[in-house]
Amino acid sequence: MSELVKLIQEAGVVGAGGAGFPTHVKAGSRVQIFLANGAECEPLLYTDQYMMRVYAREILAGLKLMMNATGAARGIVGLKAEYHDVLEALEPEAAKYPDIEIKKLQSVYPSGDEQSLVYECTGRIVPEGGIPLNVGVAVDNVETLYNVYQASRGVSLTMRTVTMNGEVRRPGVYRFPVGTSYTDAVAAAGGSDLPADQMAVVDGGPMMGAVRFGLGHFIKKTTGGLIVLPKDHGYILRRTMPKSRETLITVSACCQCRACTDLCPRYLLGHDLEPHKVMRAIQNRMELPPSQITQAWLCCLCGVCETVACPLQLSPRNVFAMIRDELRAKGVQNPHHRQPEAVRDSYEYTKIPKMRALARTGLMDYYKHMHEQELPFPIRKVSLALQQHVGAPAVPVVATGDRVNAGQLVARAPEGKLGANLHASISGLVSGVFQDHIEIEG
Ligand code: SF4
Ligand code: SF4
Repeated sequence: MSELVKLIQEAGVVGAGGAGFPTHVKAGSRVQIFLANGAECEPLLYTDQYMMRVYAREILAGLKLMMNATGAARGIVGLKAEYHDVLEALEPEAAKYPDIEIKKLQSVYPSGDEQSLVYECTGRIVPEGGIPLNVGVAVDNVETLYNVYQASRGVSLTMRTVTMNGEVRRPGVYRFPVGTSYTDAVAAAGGSDLPADQMAVVDGGPMMGAVRFGLGHFIKKTTGGLIVLPKDHGYILRRTMPKSRETLITVSACCQCRACTDLCPRYLLGHDLEPHKVMRAIQNRMELPPSQITQAWLCCLCGVCETVACPLQLSPRNVFAMIRDELRAKGVQNPHHRQPEAVRDSYEYTKIPKMRALARTGLMDYYKHMHEQELPFPIRKVSLALQQHVGAPAVPVVATGDRVNAGQLVARAPEGKLGANLHASISGLVSGVFQDHIEIEG
């Protein structure tokens, strides 16, 4: 294991833009091209743009470190051509690295999806059910690369950049200690006119974020945005429709227009995912698992079918999520592993403008100027989830009553298992060690 891989592992770095895959594992792989994902295709989020503008030097240094670790001969930063102020900061820094180039992308959704980004930046198509490594490419979010750079200097991951948007008085980009409560995050963003019991919070962007009710939740290493909305907003009602109702409507209403297939990013990449056929299979009450049903494994849950494509506002995405749970419970694995030779003919002219996606969410009112706040707020209590990454939960190495300093290890990845270390994000007293989290009071 190289020195850098050890440092990244020790620092507890995980992917900032996805499910939280431990970065030291990626750093130990061998690839030809390393991609920095700065596409930030989720409307209403400005986190990656902020990081690239303010920390261009650190992010490029982190990319170079990952290129060296993985043997990548080329580094590419993928970001939208419309991020003019970001490019102003990034281009002079990138010019210092002859093996790093900047790829300017169209402002479409979901250009930040790993597989779409790989195709746009390299022309390579990730096989069905595969990952970028299958085509010699690795991808890290730009904040992850910033954290890699910090890890190389012995600094642990304790802070998270978060876009605060929606019904807060000072929408903007903030840096919070990991484990900050939604309550404190909303207060830092100027508070809200909504009573807490009337709030719903989207953790992530409006296309793929998870909806949570109330403020009793905490920022994780993977939280890139919090969008505060009234809990009776049409967007929230649509996203939280009971599963049974969703299935019933789907079964009875789908008219087989195939718009969901024609706009599906994975179908357009050449994968055998045809959402309308899955819907038809469900309408016909097919028994599991014919290939039309197992196609659900190929869905990246991007939400294009639900938000943009379907004229009846049905959600193949939610149906696929349900099918996957069922397939998992039955032990049915993904049988689709075909390598497409080319993208579909319609690939170029079916791209979805980001603003069109936003308009379809019904959240256009929240597209506004962003305040930016770098200083940490006086967060007096954090709650650190032991599982905020792919793999096994971290195992506490502190006890109630211990004093800890910010950056100190408080839970370690279990020996020999995939996981990530966890560090105190504020200095203070460990006020509780629980089955799934550790609380620290500053
Ligand atoms: S969520 Fe819908 S559009 Fe997106 S990959 Fe899945 S089926 Fe395709
Ligand atoms: S777009 Fe909607 S109505 Fe049309 S095939 Fe897909 S799910 Fe059915």
